[in-house]
Amino acid sequence: QALNISSELLRARTVVHSLTQSLRSLDQSPLDKASWFDLMQRAVAYASNGIVITDPTQPNNPIIYVNPAFERITGYTAEEVLNRNCRFLQGEEREQLARYQLNTAIQKKQDCHVILQNFRKDGTPFWNDLYITPIHDLEGNLTHFLGIQNDITEQKTIQDSLQRQENDLRIILQSMVDGLVVVNQDGDVIFANQAAEKLFNRPATELLGQSLGIPVTVNSQAEIDIYRPGLKPIWVDFVCNEIIWQGAPAYLISLRELTERRQVYDALTRLPNRVLFNERLQHVIDLSQRHSHCHFALLFIDLDRFKVINDSLGHRAGDQLLSRFALRIQHQLRASDMLARLSGDEFAILLEELSHIDDVTQVAERINTALTKPFALEGREVFTSASIGIALGRPDLKHPGDLIREADTAMYRAKAKGGACYAIFDQEMHYQAMLRLQLETDLRYAIERQELKVHYQPLIALTSNRLVGLEALLRWHHPQKGLISPEQFIPIAEETGLIIPIGQYVLLQACQQVESWLKQALLPFPFTISVNLSGKQLSNPQLATQILKVLSEIGLDPHYLQLEITESLLMENPTAATSIFQDLEASSIRLAMDDFGTGYSSLSYLRRFPVHTLKIDRSFTHRLGTQDEDLEIIQTIVSLAHSLKMDVIAEGVENEAQLCHLKAIGCDIGQGFLFAKALDPQNTANFLRQKQTQTA
Ligand code: C2E
Ligand code: CA
Ligand code: CA
Repeated sequence: QALNISSELLRARTVVHSLTQSLRSLDQSPLDKASWFDLMQRAVAYASNGIVITDPTQPNNPIIYVNPAFERITGYTAEEVLNRNCRFLQGEEREQLARYQLNTAIQKKQDCHVILQNFRKDGTPFWNDLYITPIHDLEGNLTHFLGIQNDITEQKTIQDSLQRQENDLRIILQSMVDGLVVVNQDGDVIFANQAAEKLFNRPATELLGQSLGIPVTVNSQAEIDIYRPGLKPIWVDFVCNEIIWQGAPAYLISLRELTERRQVYDALTRLPNRVLFNERLQHVIDLSQRHSHCHFALLFIDLDRFKVINDSLGHRAGDQLLSRFALRIQHQLRASDMLARLSGDEFAILLEELSHIDDVTQVAERINTALTKPFALEGREVFTSASIGIALGRPDLKHPGDLIREADTAMYRAKAKGGACYAIFDQEMHYQAMLRLQLETDLRYAIERQELKVHYQPLIALTSNRLVGLEALLRWHHPQKGLISPEQFIPIAEETGLIIPIGQYVLLQACQQVESWLKQALLPFPFTISVNLSGKQLSNPQLATQILKVLSEIGLDPHYLQLEITESLLMENPTAATSIFQDLEASSIRLAMDDFGTGYSSLSYLRRFPVHTLKIDRSFTHRLGTQDEDLEIIQTIVSLAHSLKMDVIAEGVENEAQLCHLKAIGCDIGQGFLFAKALDPQNTANFLRQKQTQTA
């Protein structure tokens, strides 16, 4: 559609030239005059250009000839225009520069090419591409003016609208707040708007043809600092897209200054962080709200036992594991899937454009298969696996947080199944989550409503069958739900921080109770009251002071108290634990290692802590007599513990056979349903009395 005025002009000139040449050489022509006229007349009649001839020798330079094309273009018949001056075509519009040029040319008897607005007979305007030339006779006298015109209205309309569009776009580009730069495929700037000039502190003229020195990769988004002469570098958020610019492939780069650097990438793994992940997730949610066919899913990945690896091999190895892990997962994904590190050992994947749920589970399976191979960390082979929670995008989930929460819940389900697997969020989980939330609320009131009661389970010396201690075990008498197991509510208490007041409560209750039984002379000697500690309590540096304060207020001698902590707790927090235990040891409070055998610690490791008692986990006791290896394991533990001067308690003694084995091995103390369940204070007192009469 491009308008090519110069070629039109060339054509017009050639026509005129050959015409005048022909008129001049009429005499030398091999044709006779009549034939010539006939030829010319036909050429003129069929030409698509309008042709008009005027007679400047007459006062008004009247039209003496127009061809059919002129009639077609202007709508006037030849009769209507003959003997009139051409001016009638020009309408009332006086201000056209083209007209002035035309009139001057006529006065000066020169040729002239103009584009001017004319009017048809019906009054509609049209754009006339007009070429006029004077014609002279053989003596050189001006005899005629020949005008050749072309109706270019259509082309001009198109050209004008293109021009307007270009102007509009230019205004928009220039007034954008974002810096916009177009670079060609060599990376040289071919356009820069005003905001870009400001950002780079250089006029566009200086930027053109230059390379910006920023990475140009398609669809990339990054935070970069740009060099600016005379000014400090600034952080910009930068997005690069492929475009066609003036017919050639190019890149459009938009740059936005960041007031403060927004950290959107994780420094360790170089993966997008939570901020960027949330943004992308929000975007995908918005898209799917508008287009119901956009299916997407979120995978929440948590490394199994990462903490143990991190604590035993050190942070450097832990970091290495995280970045290798990230890399390995990335290999299982398509380029369009987004893998992000949300925190510590938590990762998330956003899968878009899914056609089937299998697409999601396959990714989860691929990840776990990829993790069956070990990682080489600092010369060691380390195995890890992942628990993966899957949440599928749904129309009612409008916030990234909703989806992440569901995937997180499903992840916990996978973890509860033992890890190295995936779970898909479903309504049942939602129900469980709601139930848990309700429980959490109820637990907040449980203390003040006195629904929490401490029960006591006897510890029995195996050889003498004497009672040597009690373990304080918490019970929750829920007004609607009845008795709730500590296995259910202690984790909630830990997560919500409620374990701190609850732990204080148990300690106070147990110590007061023991003090009162002591007064009633119900307790044997020696005697210990065991109280469980949770991880949250251990991370409280005031713990030792608080415990000692409780004891002194009640007036109970500290050597009656034994604190139980699990070995995994100790592993998680070895430094904090060490200092607390040193304080406690100094005041002769005893320490027991609970659930021994379920974690990763070794006895030699335990040596570093002032542990007095080892409690073998009830899963070992349970298998006693069924597998010879377990007998051997317990045997080994018992002799090692004895060599370290620790007492050994076997948990979960349920039958005589187990008791028999334990006695044979040399285990010191037993605890379990065979002797008694955890009893309420009243029944505990009865049990104590019964024991007294037995041994008396
Ligand atoms: P734990 O410290 O290992 O406590 C021993 C658990 O074994 C108790 O479960 C007890 O009732 C159970 N048990 C005792 N004898 C037998 C037996 O012969 N067979 C079987 N199968 N089980 C037996 P319980 O009372 O349900 O407590 C569960 C866990 O909750 C405890 O495990 C402890 O980790 C936690 N817990 C209970 N009370 C407290 C508390 O006051 N503070 C803290 N931090 N944790 C507590
Ligand atoms: Ca315990
Ligand atoms: Ca235990």
